Amino acid sequence: MGRISRRRFLALSGGTAALTAFVAACSHALEPPASAVTIDATPAPPPPVPTPEPVFAAGVESFALMPGTQWETPGVAIHTGLPGSRVMIFGGVHGNEPGGWLAAEEIARWQPRNGSLIVMPRLNRLSTQAMVRTVDGFGDLNRSYPGNPNSVLPMQRMAAAVVNVAQHYRPKWLFDLHESWMFYNERGTSGGTAFIGQTLSSGGTTMTLPLLQQTVKSVNSRVSQREQFTLRTNIGGQPSGTPAAGSTPRPTATPSSTALPDSVTPQLAGGTTSLGFARWVEGCTPVLIEMGQYGQDEGRRAELHTMLVQTAMERLEML
Ligand SMILES: [Zn+2]
Repeated sequence: MGRISRRRFLALSGGTAALTAFVAACSHALEPPASAVTIDATPAPPPPVPTPEPVFAAGVESFALMPGTQWETPGVAIHTGLPGSRVMIFGGVHGNEPGGWLAAEEIARWQPRNGSLIVMPRLNRLSTQAMVRTVDGFGDLNRSYPGNPNSVLPMQRMAAAVVNVAQHYRPKWLFDLHESWMFYNERGTSGGTAFIGQTLSSGGTTMTLPLLQQTVKSVNSRVSQREQFTLRTNIGGQPSGTPAAGSTPRPTATPSSTALPDSVTPQLAGGTTSLGFARWVEGCTPVLIEMGQYGQDEGRRAELHTMLVQTAMERLEML
């Protein structure tokens, strides 16, 4: 419990530092925000740029979400101690989407060259063991963000724990690994919300979209025709150039159905799904990957998830 309390405190401290930095940036202050450096969660050298980005001390941190409960699930943060991007991976948000959590468990063993890699491979662990989307009475984690630590629904409490971890590590990129039944490119003219496999969804910004476009292009050049990925994003209305701090992803198109898949949200800025993370973690670009299950075996689904994340991290010069 002590660790969680400390983590919560550090997350709050990080938020204060970010706010301080944002205010400093807005007022075009020339001085580095010294107070932000002293408040920061982890001992780190003074940042070389005015905007303080956390650099976590080299090493591997293992942690648990909802420790001491039946929903306890592990996470790992692999820090190089070097400046770089910070990538966070979610797996097992839905227990019947094994390609995602198998890939996340593989990614949790990677050693990045710089920055930090944070992986929580089986966020709804009991549901992964039961191989169901979510156990009755748990709630749906990907409809629960930013969560509520006092909710009767365990996935609401898990969502709050996940957001706390994310606010501590401040990922620049969040990859949430899911599966869908049918393939987007096989949806036909009638469409349908079950046809969301082989897609990446992200609100994106004019700054982050190119990396996703390049990642999809690179992976598509190495996979079969049927496995081709589609980037579903909408940056309409984004100002050109640098987006404002705290800008949020825009929603993707919403098919007419009440049974919305993970990557389609009816509200702005990702709603209560992981696509809303830019609202709770400054500078975070959430990306929701959906892998098609129909006629595509589990091992290949995990492999394709892994390939997408690896390619993005190579583009970030982390691998
Ligand atoms: Zn899912």
